[in-house]
Amino acid sequence: MRMLTSGDEDIRIAAEAIKAGRLAAFPTETVYGLGGDAFNVSALARIFEAKRRPRFDPLIVHIADLSTLDMAADIRSLSPSLRAKLDVLCRELWPGPLTLALPKQPSVPDLATSGLPTVAVRFPSHPVAQKLIRYSTGVIAAPSANPFGYLSPTKAGHVQEQLGERVDFIIDGGRAGIGVESTVLDLTEDPARILRPGGTSREAIEAVIGHVEMGFPPTRDAPQAALHSPGQLASHYAPKAPLFLHDAGAMSHLPFCPGEAYLFFDEETRGAWSMRNARNAGGDERIFTLTHDADKGTADKTLEAAANLFDTLYIIDNIKPSAIHAQKSPDIGLGVAINDRLTRAAAKRN
Ligand code: AMP
Ligand code: MG
Repeated sequence: MRMLTSGDEDIRIAAEAIKAGRLAAFPTETVYGLGGDAFNVSALARIFEAKRRPRFDPLIVHIADLSTLDMAADIRSLSPSLRAKLDVLCRELWPGPLTLALPKQPSVPDLATSGLPTVAVRFPSHPVAQKLIRYSTGVIAAPSANPFGYLSPTKAGHVQEQLGERVDFIIDGGRAGIGVESTVLDLTEDPARILRPGGTSREAIEAVIGHVEMGFPPTRDAPQAALHSPGQLASHYAPKAPLFLHDAGAMSHLPFCPGEAYLFFDEETRGAWSMRNARNAGGDERIFTLTHDADKGTADKTLEAAANLFDTLYIIDNIKPSAIHAQKSPDIGLGVAINDRLTRAAAKRN
């Protein structure tokens, strides 16, 4: 594995590697991706191998130009109404943290879609991701660059720590700004359906295409042939330590147990908890807060919390607590995605 900078020459080195069927991890605005040529079956196989990812879990393919959407998706087969929704989503929300499940082109390998008739496509806004895609093959398959089921990486160091020699190159582009994965929207049914909440809020989507349906109940067992959306596995995005999820009221009433870690959404709840436990706020290496700016509105706090979520869970995992207590986010904006990830992290215990 070789660490690269986000300079143009280094991006070209990674792009050449991808063209040759190798893998490069790269920054996006959501989390770091593990990229390979979406049309090269052996590159796809290497992605699954590097992540120890089951084959029923399909990949998101990334484009950096609307004119290449056709290479992956058969948009002419969409109904006129869905076609109109696709156009407005592309215009208003791409590039950005939104993945669209669309009818697939026959040329997209089944390995990329786990045999589904749909392909998930995203146009990331991160300039390094865009360059890498343009300099290589135009369509890059890239799941999050972490071992299957574990926390998603928001820094190059996370990728190095988790995948090491299983990846050929890592482009270091600093912190991923949004910090949770893209929202996956199924655009093959009308109304469209959010299969996985993520970096684009439901509110933002509904503002441009009107009502959307929301999700499926999480399934504990890996379904038969292919999942509609892998983020739907009940246990996913999980740290090593068992995680317990609490709403703000319950969190502020928890007794302090040495050896356990505490992850608060806001300073207010942390303050109330510290008072009850007669602890001074701050100074304890096992106590964390996702938001620090008390003056922010709730929706903006969820943006701050999402950006800090996985990085903070990495830090907590590295101090090896016997358990993690995490406070739920308010259920608006990116809070829906945060709670989705924490719920799946908590499901690992069962
Ligand atoms: P990850 O690669 O770990 O970021 O996760 C990939 C995500 O892509 C999954 O969580 C799914 O939600 C989504 N996905 C990929 N392909 C499809 C598809 N054809 N239909 C629906 N969702 C998909
Ligand atoms: Mg992932």
